[in-house]
Amino acid sequence: MPGVIYSALSRTKRGAQPKKVIRVTGVQDLLSGGTPRYEYFRGEQGDIILDLVDQRGVEDLGDRVRVLPGTPWSDLLKYNIEVFGLEEASVGGSVHFEDAGFGFNEFGPIRRRVEVEAVMNGEEYRGLFRGGIISAVIIRKDPRPLSYMKLERSFDFVINRVKYWFSTGIPPFRDITVMKKGNSSILQVAFPLARQELLRDKLEDMSPSRPYSFSMGNYRFRYFGSVKTMDLDYSIFPDVEELILFIRKDVTKFVALSNKPLDLSSLTLDPFSDENSQDLFSGCILCGKCVSVCPHVAQRGDKDYSPLGFFVSGMSKEYANCHLCGRCDDVCPVSLDIVPKLREKATFRNVSLDLSLSLPSRKSIVITPISRDLMESAIKVIGFFYGQGIKLGLLTLNISLDELIRGKELKLPEGVEELYVLTPEERLYLLSSKPKSVTDVNFLFDVLPNEIKSRILGKKVHKTCMYKGNVNGDERCSFAFLEMLNGEPSIKSPVSSQVTLCPLASKKLGIPSYVDELGDVKEEDVDKLVEEISGLLDKNKAILEDLTWYEGLDDNMRVDFVKGLLRNFVTGKDPATAIKIYVKLVQENALNDDEIKSILMEEIKKTFSD
Ligand code: SF4
Ligand code: SF4
Repeated sequence: MPGVIYSALSRTKRGAQPKKVIRVTGVQDLLSGGTPRYEYFRGEQGDIILDLVDQRGVEDLGDRVRVLPGTPWSDLLKYNIEVFGLEEASVGGSVHFEDAGFGFNEFGPIRRRVEVEAVMNGEEYRGLFRGGIISAVIIRKDPRPLSYMKLERSFDFVINRVKYWFSTGIPPFRDITVMKKGNSSILQVAFPLARQELLRDKLEDMSPSRPYSFSMGNYRFRYFGSVKTMDLDYSIFPDVEELILFIRKDVTKFVALSNKPLDLSSLTLDPFSDENSQDLFSGCILCGKCVSVCPHVAQRGDKDYSPLGFFVSGMSKEYANCHLCGRCDDVCPVSLDIVPKLREKATFRNVSLDLSLSLPSRKSIVITPISRDLMESAIKVIGFFYGQGIKLGLLTLNISLDELIRGKELKLPEGVEELYVLTPEERLYLLSSKPKSVTDVNFLFDVLPNEIKSRILGKKVHKTCMYKGNVNGDERCSFAFLEMLNGEPSIKSPVSSQVTLCPLASKKLGIPSYVDELGDVKEEDVDKLVEEISGLLDKNKAILEDLTWYEGLDDNMRVDFVKGLLRNFVTGKDPATAIKIYVKLVQENALNDDEIKSILMEEIKKTFSD
């Protein structure tokens, strides 16, 4: 059942999982009703959730802006709007939940100063918010220049100052906010320049300041609520690490932030506030940053398959089966070290190689379970580099996909110093499991000659989600590797490039890979050679069987005979042709005698030696 992420109503509150989630794409999705969700970090319980989080965008209307409801206030800071809220909160959420914000002193909550386009009981309306589901918010711009001043003193001092102001009337500031962080407390005020004279006595000991905004930061506990302004006192916020007070005459709205739970039970807390010491989601602050970068979400077309879903579900293994690309760790603001936690819970499909090859060279291409179907590409690359005067060896890594991803320590033949891989995924995994004797793991695209790379990069490139190189391209996932790994159903891949840096994506999407772009690599007619070898082995079958009588008496007799048969086919061949012969013979079951197999392999090895 989708919607596990919407069972998180705040960091310390969990509700029932909805029965249905509708990802809203336009107002038509709102007409049948449901419970709107504008943000991940707060929400209300409902059977049908209308997901408006991705409804983002700003339309500049000249004197106003029209904003889609999922847009965070941080996207609006550059517009000169007359009211705004916490940077991480969404515009729709701030109206829905009656947030305070800049301009609170004059206007009251944000919702009293903006207009909405909304749907209530299946009817669209426009005007002041009267309830229902918001499809857009219209916010006026403020053409008047504002002045900003501040006073930095002890918390008691600045609080007593604002209490004094309000005890004698309403000070004509646009905004009065107190921010406390650690031992520093700042009283911030904003006002239209024209009111300077009116405020002269109040500004006497204040110094010029700059425009300010408000952020929840990355605190693990966030408390939202209200308190009577005249009751404001340091003792009611014990141990708070950061405090923002939106001050007005009767009631002050507060945001209290801390990495440890606070006891604010004596205060009136908003329904979406944290309210106890429970860390329900293993440290996740429900910011949702991982959701938009996660290829597993894209594969499933379901946001539950994100680290957010993983943590909200109580680290359920259902949401853990991804390729551990680490993009979530790159964006997680509270450094949850997500990949190791996923790895611990994940179950991967049983994929392994059906061919074993050991043709080591100082620089060797390694075929892993990920590239098990890319042997042809590996041989082509070997042929290409051979033409450039570089001999690359070829190894198979006969471990399971699961072992590869979990970082099983590798054992490689002596003398291998550099590994080369066909896919960016393999580079990522092998970097952490390579033996010390291996100095580097290179993605083969990165080591192509510059003119070939430039030619490829001149096209519309699919860069892939795992490639960390500094090139421009589509980073979206083809899902080819995810499907191999988790066997889960995918939605249609959105990738439509001219060339891909991932040969797996190339196979799945039918677009050329960088290996295809190497052009024609000189090769002999391997099919013909294979046919000749098969024929020869067949013709000499009786002798080969007969020579087994000499086992233990003269082992070399059969070996020398086989070498003699095969020598002409391998000696003098380039490594790519030699290996292609071997692979084809194995694939065609023409080499079902282990001794013949190993003799042929020894002959091929000679073509690989430096
Ligand atoms: S590692 Fe990658 S695929 Fe897995 S949850 Fe993180 S971002 Fe998503
Ligand atoms: S980025 Fe980190 S904190 Fe934010 S939702 Fe994802 S896991 Fe949670």
